[in-house]
Amino acid sequence: MSEPERDPILTVTDLVRTYRTGKVEVHALRGVSFSVGRGELVVLKGRSGSGKTTLLNLIGGLDTPTSGSVLLDGHEVTSLDEDGLIRLRRQTISFVFQSHGLIPVLSAAENVEVPLRLARTASAERDKRVETLLALVGLADHARQRPYELSGGQRQRVAIARALASRPRLLLADEPTGQLDSETSRAIMPLLRAVIAAEGVTVLVATHDPIVIEHADRLLAITDGAVTEEPLPARA
Ligand code: ADP
Ligand code: MG
Repeated sequence: MSEPERDPILTVTDLVRTYRTGKVEVHALRGVSFSVGRGELVVLKGRSGSGKTTLLNLIGGLDTPTSGSVLLDGHEVTSLDEDGLIRLRRQTISFVFQSHGLIPVLSAAENVEVPLRLARTASAERDKRVETLLALVGLADHARQRPYELSGGQRQRVAIARALASRPRLLLADEPTGQLDSETSRAIMPLLRAVIAAEGVTVLVATHDPIVIEHADRLLAITDGAVTEEPLPARA
């Protein structure tokens, strides 16, 4: 098993996920084990179809494994009941996807505010938190703009700010640069690093984007449903 440098927030052990559609079995994960330390920026690299989304969904409690364990911040995710899963999604984890998923009729600030409204955060505190997060992702001057008035990279920054609103311990990003050009993609990893420093969150990014892989602090490779630790690429 690969070991993180710090006290793990996440430990995945012997995780198996087999999809059955009719008579066909797809072995998406074949016994995956690894840990992620608190405050790490870990990249899970793998080609399309290697099992990245399956793994992130299992860590985030969006799917149930065939067998194995996901220990997240002291909780066994695979055995949480419905209430436990709701609490996990509100308090412990947050997702960023390839598509930003912003609400088109809401401004950048209002999009970031959505999770705070759901959590019934008081109005003054909400405003403060939204301002802090938009500043953190470099969009303090774009608070009133709607998603269609922002660039692709800016929209993804709003999505990251929104994902942080509930103060998650673990941010799961599934191909976050999948719809960005390379220039914009280049800015994502430094941004995530700044987010870790400011918010004390841990970040796991699944990707096949070489630009993201190049800037990993720790690299895990997934091939045909098996995860191995990889040395970091040499930096120029
Ligand atoms: P990635 O995110 O790395 O592209 P996925 O986790 O989406 O990979 O998929 C891993 C494998 O599992 C692929 O062979 C895919 O076709 C299969 N798969 C994913 N989701 C399902 C599903 N709901 N039903 C059946 N097979 C699936
Ligand atoms: Mg995927």
